[in-house]
Amino acid sequence: MERHSGWKRKSQEEIKRLNAFSEQYKQFLDVAKTEREAAAQIEMTLRAHGFTSEMNGPRIYAVNRGKEVIAFRKGSRDLAQGLKIIIAHIDAPRLDLKQNPLYEDVDLALLRTHYYGGIKKYQWVAMPLAIHGVVVKADGTLVNLVIGENDSDPVFSIDDLLPHLSHKHQDDKKLSEAIEGEKLTLLFGSMPLRGEEREPVKKAVLGLLREQYGLEEEDFISAEIEVVPAFKARDVGIDRSMVGAYGQDDRASAYPLLAAMVDLDEEPAWPVLAVFIDKEEIGSEGNTSAQSHFIQMFLQDLIEGLGLGNADALMRRLLFRSKAISADVNGAVNPTWQEVHEKQNACYLGGGICVTKFTGHGGKVGANDAHAEYVGEIRNILSKSDVIWQVGELGKIDEGGGGTVAKYLAEYGMDIIDMGAPILTMHSPFEISSKLDIFEAYRAFKAFFVS
Ligand code: MN
Ligand code: MN
Repeated sequence: MERHSGWKRKSQEEIKRLNAFSEQYKQFLDVAKTEREAAAQIEMTLRAHGFTSEMNGPRIYAVNRGKEVIAFRKGSRDLAQGLKIIIAHIDAPRLDLKQNPLYEDVDLALLRTHYYGGIKKYQWVAMPLAIHGVVVKADGTLVNLVIGENDSDPVFSIDDLLPHLSHKHQDDKKLSEAIEGEKLTLLFGSMPLRGEEREPVKKAVLGLLREQYGLEEEDFISAEIEVVPAFKARDVGIDRSMVGAYGQDDRASAYPLLAAMVDLDEEPAWPVLAVFIDKEEIGSEGNTSAQSHFIQMFLQDLIEGLGLGNADALMRRLLFRSKAISADVNGAVNPTWQEVHEKQNACYLGGGICVTKFTGHGGKVGANDAHAEYVGEIRNILSKSDVIWQVGELGKIDEGGGGTVAKYLAEYGMDIIDMGAPILTMHSPFEISSKLDIFEAYRAFKAFFVS
């Protein structure tokens, strides 16, 4: 059970390959910051590799409301014997604009937000932010917005209190209360409309929105606008061994999964299914989440498309017989916060993909706990394929914890286990991964699909 850095096992040739892979990974991170953008990129890649929405071909995909994608590849085995499934999520913690967000105060135009998922609120102030999203106008037309990603774009920001004045109202508070949710308001403009007495700055920014995007203030009601960091993915470290970027939970799984799915040889033995899911970060609620019935509906359509008879019964049977990976990141041992980890059962940056038998919190509550037999199978697959991997759970028993979508797929009766890259500073605007671990995730997913 000795631990070794994965880098020691990599030849110069393999390091070249994993560096090339991480260049593509970084590009994906830059163009897929929201679940909608990730779904669009995934669809584009699938189509470029011959996937179609025709329910009778060898490569099929379907999109649910622009936020969830399922891709299927026919295998040589009988579908009724089950599928190999890997599921990863494409939503990430962020700030969403409220439905009536705009106001003017102290000669500034501001936008109110409501954060999405588990963020540390103090991490989102005093940095450049971009807005991404869609607005459905009164006439039903949809406007796509991305502002803050081009170098020539303006960015947005949330102000913080200067240290000179923060003593009473901030410094002595608990960290979790130092920035309240309602203080996460976005600076949106400061130039008043000439000749206007009431709310001249608000009127000026509304004028710009009308002019540039054809939007009215009421259109925010039917909008989904997400506030995300405005910076791009970057190499981290003098040796460029790490990637720093927003949204790596869970693009660190979603991108390797997409790459594995399109790179498989012509006909895998098992039929395989890749699921890119939404709403994991808020507990898998809603009709684009792992608790929705889209997977079932997709499989029923598939079975009917292939002319295989009673879709409902067959779908239940094949899901029960399927084998799955819940691909999600884990928390790597923090160099300066080692006390939150039980280091004998924690994962380490650069140690390869992390296999997690169970999730949940104290007492395995809310966990999916993979059976020993299934862990044995997985262990065998990874070792045979020479994948660099490690085992790890999330933090000390009573320190906290976290869940994934695994338990929602386990309900169908399939075997499922958690697996993913270790991440530092998870859920922050700038999460850190090891290029080696991302590449090993790709190799592990591919090995699982073809085994
Ligand atoms: Mn995750
Ligand atoms: Mn997460």
